[in-house]
Amino acid sequence: MAEIELNHIYKKYENASDYSVTDFNLHVKDQEFVVFVGPSGCGKSTTLRMLAGLEDISKGELKIDGKTVNDEAPKDRDIAMVFQNYALYPHMTVYDNMAFGLKLRKYSKEDIDQKVKEAAQILGLSDYLDRKPAALSGGQRQRVALGRAIVRDAPIFLMDEPLSNLDAKLRVSMRAEIAKLHQRLQTTTIYVTHDQTEAMTMADRIVIMKDGKVQQVGTPQEVYDNP
Ligand code: ADP
Ligand code: ADP
Repeated sequence: MAEIELNHIYKKYENASDYSVTDFNLHVKDQEFVVFVGPSGCGKSTTLRMLAGLEDISKGELKIDGKTVNDEAPKDRDIAMVFQNYALYPHMTVYDNMAFGLKLRKYSKEDIDQKVKEAAQILGLSDYLDRKPAALSGGQRQRVALGRAIVRDAPIFLMDEPLSNLDAKLRVSMRAEIAKLHQRLQTTTIYVTHDQTEAMTMADRIVIMKDGKVQQVGTPQEVYDNP
């Protein structure tokens, strides 16, 4: 169970003259798949990073399940995140890459083993657990990054352009995989992309951003009918 409320959220970076995000308002429902879409530089990543606690919120209120979390450290938020540049550890095996966050959080060896193997099975990585990232295809690497995020069973899942480094064909098949993953895990998910097709095919609701502002919020059908 996880609802996210962004109330009049603003972000101004320290050295910037202008706001990067202006008056962002949104209520994300439990288990909803919301896509932030818009051109490069419109504030999608900044908003996502504020949700994860990786950037301070300049003004406004962020609530998760009714509780204000503006000042909670990233590790105290029950959130998993996947980045565009997978940030896999090159010297670690697939298994250790997926286990890393759990080790940091002092999960038992048995728990880690169970969770990593379960995630590997979901993502079709069971036969690759001993490999290093360099010995994987782009799609497999992306699955490891997804695996590293899902092992913790966090109720909130944030993805920042997770497919933009993949070729067009793989991107299309990974879209379907992520949609299936969402159905299975039933996380509240926010997915950032500059790709309109990706937004239209994956979202329950689309948030269209421009110049740091929310321009339109609606289902793909509503956006299609009323562009
Ligand atoms: P998007 O994810 O939509 O491409 P970003 O959230 O990355 O957009 O960026 C929004 C705006 O904030 C841009 O003008 C960008 O240059 C600026 N910005 C992003 N990160 C920083 C930073 N660390 N310091 C200063 N400005 C930043
Ligand atoms: P968590 O579950 O806390 O996100 P991760 O295993 O994903 O744990 O990573 C822990 C932290 O280390 C995260 O902030 C992640 O972005 C960062 N990280 C992971 N891999 C790398 C890497 N290769 N280089 C730099 N930072 C990394």
